Amino acid sequence: MMTRTPTSQSPFSALPSALGSKWSTYKLGGPIDHLARPTTTDQAIGYLQQAINVAVPVTVVGWGSNSIIADPGIRGLTVLTRDLQHMAIDANTGVADLGAGLFLGTASTQLQKKGLGGGAFWVGIPGTVGGAVAMNAGAMGSDTAKHLIDATVYNLATQQAEVWDKARLQFAYRHSAINPQQHVVLSARFAFIPLETQSLRDELAQQMKANIDFRRQHHPTQPNGGSVFQNPNPDNPVGRLLDQLGARDPETGWREGGIRISPVHANFMINTGTGTATDLLRLMVRAKRAVKQHFGFTIHPENRFLGQPSAEEKDLLAELEPSRQ
Ligand SMILES: Cc1cc2nc3c(=O)[nH]c(=O)nc-3n(C[C@H](O)[C@H](O)[C@H](O)COP(=O)(O)OP(=O)(O)OC[C@H]3O[C@@H](n4cnc5c(N)ncnc54)[C@H](O)[C@@H]3O)c2cc1C
Repeated sequence: MMTRTPTSQSPFSALPSALGSKWSTYKLGGPIDHLARPTTTDQAIGYLQQAINVAVPVTVVGWGSNSIIADPGIRGLTVLTRDLQHMAIDANTGVADLGAGLFLGTASTQLQKKGLGGGAFWVGIPGTVGGAVAMNAGAMGSDTAKHLIDATVYNLATQQAEVWDKARLQFAYRHSAINPQQHVVLSARFAFIPLETQSLRDELAQQMKANIDFRRQHHPTQPNGGSVFQNPNPDNPVGRLLDQLGARDPETGWREGGIRISPVHANFMINTGTGTATDLLRLMVRAKRAVKQHFGFTIHPENRFLGQPSAEEKDLLAELEPSRQ
């Protein structure tokens, strides 16, 4: 375990600090001590090797659209992948080699422009390719695993950039074998489907538009982190369960401090402006207890917690994610 924090001799002391709230779509979270924004995979590997050399913890942030950043913030080195923008798409074979920081909407649009099908589900998921691999992001009956060929991963344990095939990534529902404290996705290769006819291309354009329209209607516009909890099974989506308990009622909906359940979708929690990570975790604990008490399901967070928790955040996390302890 790497627990030492950087000293004044740290190779990262020249890196800027930042506010976590700037880099998470919830718009909350405390200070990030040292923020690296590599623009090439070699540069990313260089930062990671330095972190190993001086034994500081590494945190990876893509678009921050599935992440709750601790109120006390993030110590050690934080690698923001957004500038890893490499993109090579072969329209003939359908193979796309995509940098970890590429925004999924951009990737999806570029695939469409090249006449490739299969990537429409990414449009409207506000994350990066690396985050999508780590989370196995999915929507509209598809997921990232379905198209992935392999991913280039920097492994902090072996200190090597390794090519992980699909079997090694062990994809499941919103899960992969990527442990972001140990494994950093640098890029990934995907297989999409060359669309031979204009009517198939028109169908793809319609599908993308329909996906965007659906999200505009069904997702909140206030700062949020997408679905807070994983669904216990497809027949019992958490949003519906919480809705039955009145959690998203516009008048009496549940809230903790500056965080409330979204009136448009009960599995989304929104930051009304003053929300903290502690408020969010308190509301999550309330939702988890209620679902257990009324429906008997133990639900698990889909959102990931990043950084060093306060004492209260630690207690709340212990209830939300007992396996984390
Ligand atoms: C409005 C809204 C709608 C959403 N809809 C969907 C949806 O339909 N389907 C869905 O699956 N998700 C959805 N999400 C959640 C989120 O967008 C996805 O999980 C997305 O894949 C996260 O990507 P990210 O880059 O933002 O990851 P982050 O939030 O930055 O990171 C998420 C986790 O992955 C790790 N990580 C990020 N990048 C890397 C990397 N390069 N290497 C290793 N680990 C990494 C982080 O450390 C963290 O543990 C939604 C979110 C919002 C806000």
